[in-house]
Order: sequence, then C-alpha cells, then structure tokens
Amino acid sequence: MSTAEVRIEHRYLELPDSFYTRVQPTPLTGARMAVFNHELAAEMGVHTRSADDWTGIGAGTELLEGMDPVAMKYTGHQFGVYNPELGDGRGLLLWETVGPDGRRWDWHLKGAGPTPYSRFGDGRAVLRSSIREYLCSEAMHHLGIATTRALFLVSARDPVRRESIETAATLMRVAQSHIRFGHFEFAAHHEGPEAVRTLLEHVIALHFPHLIPLPEHERHREWFREVVSRTGRLIADWQAVGFCHGVMNSDNMSIIGDTFDYGPYAFLDDFDAGYICNHSDQGGRYAYNRQPHIGFVNCQYLANALLPIMDEDSVRQGLRDYEQAYNRRFLENMRHKLGLADADDSDLGLIMDTFSLLHEQRVDYTLFFRGLSHLHSRGVAPVRDLFVDRSAFDEWLNRYQERLTRETRAHDEREHAMRRVNPKYILRNYLAQQVIVEAQSGDFGPMKTLLRVLSRPFDEQPEFEAYAAPPPDWGKHLNISCSS
Ligand code: AMP
Ligand code: MG
Ligand code: MG
Repeated sequence: MSTAEVRIEHRYLELPDSFYTRVQPTPLTGARMAVFNHELAAEMGVHTRSADDWTGIGAGTELLEGMDPVAMKYTGHQFGVYNPELGDGRGLLLWETVGPDGRRWDWHLKGAGPTPYSRFGDGRAVLRSSIREYLCSEAMHHLGIATTRALFLVSARDPVRRESIETAATLMRVAQSHIRFGHFEFAAHHEGPEAVRTLLEHVIALHFPHLIPLPEHERHREWFREVVSRTGRLIADWQAVGFCHGVMNSDNMSIIGDTFDYGPYAFLDDFDAGYICNHSDQGGRYAYNRQPHIGFVNCQYLANALLPIMDEDSVRQGLRDYEQAYNRRFLENMRHKLGLADADDSDLGLIMDTFSLLHEQRVDYTLFFRGLSHLHSRGVAPVRDLFVDRSAFDEWLNRYQERLTRETRAHDEREHAMRRVNPKYILRNYLAQQVIVEAQSGDFGPMKTLLRVLSRPFDEQPEFEAYAAPPPDWGKHLNISCSS
C-alpha cells in the first residue's frame, strides 16, 4: 500500500485538549478484510496492491506513521434530552489526509474498542451494524445525497454481546469532517466562549474557506446560515428518496451537512408518512414525516451553542433560512421526480396530494416514482397495478396528465430525466438482511454484489432485476434492532 500521494494533516489535534483524548485501538482477533472500497481509495489518493495490507489497521493491531488516534469529545441532545456524557465511545479518529484533488478526509475507525467516553458500552461494533452502515452510506452517495463514506470493513472473531452473541467488526468511516453539532454544544456548555470561537474558526478554515476573508461578525453569521441551509437541503433530499434516519440526535448531525451515523435507518417500502424505523422511538419523535421539523430543532440546539459568541439577531436570522432552504429543495426534488420542468403554482398542491394518495393506498414509494418515469414508454398499467383502489389512482392520474400538458418537454425527454432522479434500486431492509445473513456465515460475495447494484441506482440492470423487487412478506417492517 502507499499513501505517498496524500498529505497527512491531523488538524483536529490543533483544537484544545478538552476536545479529545488519545486512545490506542484495542486489538481484535481473527481479523479478516471483508470488503474494501477500491474506487473510493483511489479518489482519496490511497494506492493499494492488496486490500489485506489494511487488515491490521482495521483490527487495531497496526498504525501507520502519522496516525495518532483520538476519541473526540462532544455532547448533544438525545431524544430531546441533553446528555453531557457523550463522545466517541467506540470510534477513533486516526488521522486526516488530503488527497491529490485537495479534498480532505477524516479516517475514523468505528468499533475500535473502549474510550473514556464509552460509559456502559463495550467500544465495539457488531458485524451486522457495520455492514448496514457500509451499505447505506455507499447507497446514499450513489443516490447523490451528502454522506460519510465507507473505506473498508474488517470482520473479526471476538464475540460481542447484544440481544444475542454476535461477532465484532470495524468500519473505516471516512468523511470530510467528523465534527458534529454536538461538538459545539460541548464547547458552549462546558468550555466557554473561547472554545466555541476556536472550534468555529477551525471548521471555517477547513470546510468553509470561502468565508475566511469576511470580517468576523459576517463570517460567523454567513457560516451559520450555510450550515442551517445545508441541513435543510440534506433533509429535503432524504424525504425525496424516502429515507428515514431513525436517530436524529444532535450528536448525529454533521456540521458540514452529511448524512451521519447509520443505525436503525430505513428506506420506505409501502409509503407511510408516519413511519418510525427505530423501534426504541416509541413516541415517533424521528418518524419520517417529522424529520424536516427535527432538522430545525437540531439547528436550534446549534444556535443556542453559538450564542456565547454570536448576537441573537444573527442567530435568529440564520435559523430562518432553514424553512426556505428545505422548502426550496423539497419542491425542486419533487418537481424533478414528477418530471415537471416548467414551474407552475399548482405544483405544491399536486405534490402534497400525491403524498396523501400514496399514504392512503400504502403504495411502494420507489416503485411508484420509477413507474411514473416509464408512463408513456411502458403504459399506465404497471403503476395502476400498485393501487388497490384503482379509481383513486385514475383520478390522480387525470390531474397529473392534465398538468403534463403544460410541460414543453417531449415525453421521452421528460421520462429520461425522471429516471435519473427516481431510483430503481434502493437499499431495502430485506436486501440488507439477506446479505448480513450470508456474511455472518462467512460469505461476503452477496454484499459485494449488492454494493455493485446500489452503485448504479438509476440504471436499468436487467441481470439484477430481482434487487428492485418490493419486500417479500417476511421482509416487511423488519424490526431493526437499535443495538449496534
Ligand atoms: P448513537 O446512538 O449511535 O449515536 O450513539 C450514542 C453514543 O453512544 C455515542 O457517544 C457512541 O459513541 C456511544 N456508543 C454507541 N455504542 C457504543 C458501544 N458499543 N460502546 C461504547 N460506546 C457506544
Ligand atoms: Mg452517534
Ligand atoms: Mg450510532
């Protein structure tokens, strides 16, 4: 392996000591390189003859020169309750690298063993949850949604106790930044204004360099507006693709607007606006239709953490951008999904009624929009057949087709564009479940095949038609354990 093309820059260590603790990984036994993301490694400037070269790093038995592992300290609101005891409880930031294209990457080894912030946890991640994170972060990336990525997955033999005994694994999660809203909450509530300022300037220097030349007051104001807007746009992207995050605690909110921390997430199959994918979330705080509001609530937590160094007006003004950024992006996404290129005042009404129809009829969200993307080329029947109440669909269809008469694009041109935004392949929970079962008995082939399919979500892949199927009965509403 070679990292000759990358620059090592562990800039997180420039923050005050209180933001981290140095921790060595705790070795795993029987480690095996399960999946390695060669395409991503190349993008990062990492050259690898053999993926096995990285097994020791994944197992916590080896470090490269320049790696200086730290557990990051942050706090945050979990289900609306402030928890000062958080931090990397099982993940370590090994180093940061800058690739040949100038992009920076945090390398975070998830499942590396206990840290001072582990509380009652064992510092480990099980194979099941590591696979789920790997699959979904890559799926999201290929759907064009901002996300952390997965560089490699190492499986091990060590037993880990969850509801049953499982085995340990580690995931090398990479992202431009691992700084969360919760880092700011930690700084504000425990360290004081100077720590908030230092953290803020650090984030701007690394991730918002275009703001550096602005005078301080403006720089901070514009930065907050940008973070709020990115968050709003991210959640609009989730809603459009039917993604439920499941644990939108403020310590799982990335400061650069990435989808962050894949736990009990789900893509909607049959559309249900109030779907709750996290079975520990009894109140439905993080239900699908509450995600847009919760995104805002998290921005409010961040806003509060900025008050020690920013005036209230700037903060309030920044928060106002959320709704606009969300609404704009959501409307744009849904117009694209419906193939509406020429904006019309009636569009929002049509979009909301489309959601009502899908909700009442519990229609498969992905199949519906993919079917609409073939309406003229393949006919109405495949979409109509998704509905139990055909007359409700016919009524909706009349309205949609009437709206299409006001479009100037040709049918085939519109449908071609629709197929670039309405995925054929999404990571349905049952697909993940199937490859997890295979991997648990040692075969990672099915996981690799699934990753290949998900890397081209918008393309017809006739040899993989089965992967586009709605869940079989056993795969509906799988109870995804929150324990990971
Ligand atoms: P999450 O709900 O996944 O966002 O995790 C919340 C907090 O619990 C974070 O600070 C994690 O680092 C920590 N945590 C989760 N699982 C474990 C574990 N198995 N051992 C130690 N800490 C953990
Ligand atoms: Mg988390
Ligand atoms: Mg988690």
